[in-house]
Amino acid sequence: MPDLTAPHARVLPFDVAAVRRDFPILAAAAGTRALVYLDNASTTQKPQAVIDRLMAFYAGENANVHRGVYELSERATAAYEAARATVARFLNAASTSEIVFVRGTTEAVNLVAATHGRAHLAAGSEVLITAMEHHSNLVPWQRVCEETGARLRVAPVTPAGELDLAALEELLSESTRMVAVAHVSNALGTVNPVRAIVELAHRRRIPVLVDGAQAVAHLPVDVQALGCDFYAFSGHKVFGPTGIGVLYGRLDLLEAMPPYQSGGDMIRSVAFEHTCYNDVPYKFEAGTPHVAGVVGLAAAIQYLSSFDTERVVEHENDVLRYATEQLSSLPHVRLVGRAAAKAGVLSFLVDDVHPHDVATVLDRAGVAVRAGHHCCQPLMDRFGLPGTVRASFALYNTRADADALAAAVRAACERFA
Ligand code: PMP
Repeated sequence: MPDLTAPHARVLPFDVAAVRRDFPILAAAAGTRALVYLDNASTTQKPQAVIDRLMAFYAGENANVHRGVYELSERATAAYEAARATVARFLNAASTSEIVFVRGTTEAVNLVAATHGRAHLAAGSEVLITAMEHHSNLVPWQRVCEETGARLRVAPVTPAGELDLAALEELLSESTRMVAVAHVSNALGTVNPVRAIVELAHRRRIPVLVDGAQAVAHLPVDVQALGCDFYAFSGHKVFGPTGIGVLYGRLDLLEAMPPYQSGGDMIRSVAFEHTCYNDVPYKFEAGTPHVAGVVGLAAAIQYLSSFDTERVVEHENDVLRYATEQLSSLPHVRLVGRAAAKAGVLSFLVDDVHPHDVATVLDRAGVAVRAGHHCCQPLMDRFGLPGTVRASFALYNTRADADALAAAVRAACERFA
């Protein structure tokens, strides 16, 4: 097994100007306006290190993994498995076998719902989610409940956009078979008390899946400290490529689960009468994997891990707080989601102007934000809103970006007054 205790590359001081130079898309071409990119909750931009890694893989290392007996394939396999060790270290997993490569958060949740979920749910049993889940951590559970006759229960959120932990505890019962919860809400930025949720669930021997799509780029994640049973995230939201993501699962649970998809790589031996499945994690990696995506993801994690995490968190909190103050001071703006603990996201409305119209005006000012329901329709219904405008931040954003956002919102307010 690769050495999980090997330290990350050198830890660099955090200098946002230098960080911005690492991201070619953020540099303005001569005579053009620099991009104010505030849609990081949708997807993050890629540093040159990740772009270079993808180029180098395709230019000099490309081969299928786990199959070839020739050197190039062995090298590609070594890079693929080294990336698994990088991810294991990043999440502080106990073993590389607990890291399954998938397409993204959506596929990770679908995998658990279709395997663990289908095996443990039946009429009379329940899955507990929260009202702030992304559709990707809602619809898979809804579907498996429909198939098995189980019931989907929903823990409410407060008007400030925080999880009502007491209500969640009351909803846990003898019948609950799974708790599935976002670490950070993509629509509101709320950071959920995952450790406390895990404690409540584990007291009743209920496993917990954490949707970490919005957490990994903003918070240090330690799956052993959180105590969760499953943790899902997407590479593209943490400065890596699209089409690649991770499911962390506790080894004993992964071993007990049936395969998800069937085909190559997930088998040990096949006969027409019977197939023996491979060990975890390969049992869940059917078909040729996204090898370039995996090595690109490892490069992204190494890039992020090269900074002092505390300084990154401090910087991001400063920009989010500053942007919050700027928008709060505008008379026509209403913030949606005022949780005490937030990361990365600022959702708001301008009077009763449709969020899409506000976002279009912001785009004309060179500020890229998202508008709509953010794949959280039930949450928007809970707040009686068609959607919000969402500015979402990453480590390369600055107070100047927040100023550009505030200026563009002010202009939108005037335009729609
Ligand atoms: N969960 C959350 C909280 C998200 O923000 C997202 C992406 N917006 C997803 C799940 C789905 O991620 P992906 O589309 O990468 O599978």
